Amino acid sequence: MNEQTTIRQRLRVTGVVQGVGFRPTVYQLATSLDLGGFVGNDSAGVFIELEGRLTAIDEFVLRLQDDPPPLAHIDSVDRTDIPVSGDGEFVIVESRKDDRATTLVSPDLEVCADCLLEMNDPDDRRYRYPFINCTNCGPRFTITREIPYDRPLTTMASFVMCAACRAEYDDPANRRFHAQPNACPDCGPHIWLEREDIEPVEGVIAEARRRIAAGEIVAIKGIGGFHLACDARNAAAVATLRERKHRTAKPFAVMAADPATTEVIADLDDAERALLESPQRPIVLVTESVASDLVDGIAPGNNRIGVMLPYAPLHHLLLEPGDVWVMTSANYASEPIVKDNEDARTKLRELADTLLLHDRAIHVHCDDSVVRIAAGAELPIRRSRGFAPFPVRLPTPVPPTLAVGGELKATFCLAAGDNAFMSQHIGDMENLETLEAFAAAVAHMIGLFRIQPELIVADLHPRYLSTRWAEDHFGERVVHVQHHHAHIASVMAENSHIGPVIGFSFDGTGYGTDGTIWGGEILIGNLDGFFRAGHLGVAQLVGGDAAVKRPYRMALSHLHAAGVAWDPGLPAVARASGEEQRIIRQQLETGLNSVETTSVGRLFDAVASLAGVRHEISYEGQAAIELEALGLPDATGSYRFELVDRDEAVTLDPTPVIRAVAADVVAGAPAAAISMRFHRALADAVVASAREMQRRYHIETAALSGGVFQNVTLLEAAKRGLEESGFTVLTHRLVPPNDGGLALGQVALAGRR
Ligand code: ZN
Ligand code: ZN
Ligand code: FE
Repeated sequence: MNEQTTIRQRLRVTGVVQGVGFRPTVYQLATSLDLGGFVGNDSAGVFIELEGRLTAIDEFVLRLQDDPPPLAHIDSVDRTDIPVSGDGEFVIVESRKDDRATTLVSPDLEVCADCLLEMNDPDDRRYRYPFINCTNCGPRFTITREIPYDRPLTTMASFVMCAACRAEYDDPANRRFHAQPNACPDCGPHIWLEREDIEPVEGVIAEARRRIAAGEIVAIKGIGGFHLACDARNAAAVATLRERKHRTAKPFAVMAADPATTEVIADLDDAERALLESPQRPIVLVTESVASDLVDGIAPGNNRIGVMLPYAPLHHLLLEPGDVWVMTSANYASEPIVKDNEDARTKLRELADTLLLHDRAIHVHCDDSVVRIAAGAELPIRRSRGFAPFPVRLPTPVPPTLAVGGELKATFCLAAGDNAFMSQHIGDMENLETLEAFAAAVAHMIGLFRIQPELIVADLHPRYLSTRWAEDHFGERVVHVQHHHAHIASVMAENSHIGPVIGFSFDGTGYGTDGTIWGGEILIGNLDGFFRAGHLGVAQLVGGDAAVKRPYRMALSHLHAAGVAWDPGLPAVARASGEEQRIIRQQLETGLNSVETTSVGRLFDAVASLAGVRHEISYEGQAAIELEALGLPDATGSYRFELVDRDEAVTLDPTPVIRAVAADVVAGAPAAAISMRFHRALADAVVASAREMQRRYHIETAALSGGVFQNVTLLEAAKRGLEESGFTVLTHRLVPPNDGGLALGQVALAGRR
């Protein structure tokens, strides 16, 4: 075949290729290279046929891969020769719906710079239009009911495009060619204030701003649900919001108007700046600046605040330079975020003074994501809007699998082949509303990715709602995996590491294979199995849940285990009445109404209470978060865990730590120094036990997972220490170390069975 011969090839492109301006790019490229043929979408991705010279087709493929549209992500391009058919022209053909394969759906992304320019241009027909978008930006996941991603299958189906919008939509040279949510003030969604007669955009925005300035709480419908907003510099408004939400201390996220405003309220490094301004627009946990004038009620007892930048065009219209608003998910404590107008009218009536609504329906809820920077890299705390449902690649392919996750911070994972689709954040699976949101999200993802799960995976805990839901729906087919093994598997999977590893799985609670509560586990294993090679020394959880909500009970328990007398000079001891002490002592001595635990989370609670930092908590992890927040990097000294060899397993005995903390408290050492010494001791214990494991099992890779490793002070110190000792260290970058990442590990484990 010579170079001048006309040939025809069929190309199959997979990846994030729908709803991201892919077909117009293909059209322009093909036309510029004088190629005939067509391009279209189907359930498997993008199909292309090209007719022309081989050199032109080669160049087409090269340029497509080198310079894809901004939101696209090409996984593969397959090429096959087919007979020539004489096509001189190149056209875009209708989408095809078929049931064969999985295609990727883009996450919801911030409004792009081009759209913002138009929105701020008084001569543009979309001047100050809150729903401006194009193929390079805007909502995707939350408006898509089904694939292929086409307007009739999105929540934009009810809006009929005007002639001007239609012309853009049909023009392959236009930035809005086949932009499914394309709209304008004449034909698209609009905003309004409930129970008011204000409709024009300007009136609504001005009135909403006036109300925020007056100290009111405004519920604002966004991309993945409603926010409750108020002025972050108004102490009374923030206090009212806490009171109405029954949320006493858990930090509120804020939205700052622009990057310059974030610099005033926070001390940022380059990695944090980049993350704040990334198209995913997550909430970034950053250090509050000394100059910050936000009220203390935003994040009580915490030097870190969750900050995000505007991402919906509506946010850009609402916030003006210098503004910082609380923007917290609109829900009651542990219920899912409210997303529908009807729900907002009933459920938010008592939470918000005003409702700012719009008529573009949100098909599935999607909370804001939360990310921290640790050791210069991203550490997800909650992976949701902007990230879901972009898949995590699995190290080995799995059959169609649904993993239902854990209980708190629940997410699930739908997987097939090497794609693991982690769901958006669902919430704490403790009530019917959350379970219903979970079931709806599962059904949505099954429809979206056409994966009918053959394998179902759940946690070993018999009382988790997720486990019970799986058993109710799938009965015998459910495979159970151990919680801490799943944590380690999740960090292995996202690092494409198959094993073996020395796994440090530290969290608050998880069901152990011996029926006790685990949470300070050293596991040796890989994706095929594990054994418990070590753990934190055992303490008693007296009164079950009561001990979790009251860290001083954990302090008494750890003092008891360490053989330290309950000195009334210790704040933790003084916190319990004589009668309560008598009951706790009895439970500790008889084991009645108490469970054994090796939880590192509970050890953090005990130390926080001993140091006088926090005796009772109102949200999960509060004591540990406040203890970390206090830590002074320049405080000297460290405590030391003892490594004890018991029955083949190593115990990290906290006795000397508890004794030293108690002695420091009695001697009047500042809580910040105690915090620092404790963090160092735990990091040192990780390194020392990793070396012992390496000596025994000759493994050079350590894996850190579990909710305790959201603690960046501990994570960075442990990672540094391990690397200095020559270990390769696996940490989380794609999914959270907490139970929000559990489902990925469940998939990775079950796929190997
Ligand atoms: Zn745009
Ligand atoms: Zn229009
Ligand atoms: Fe956990």
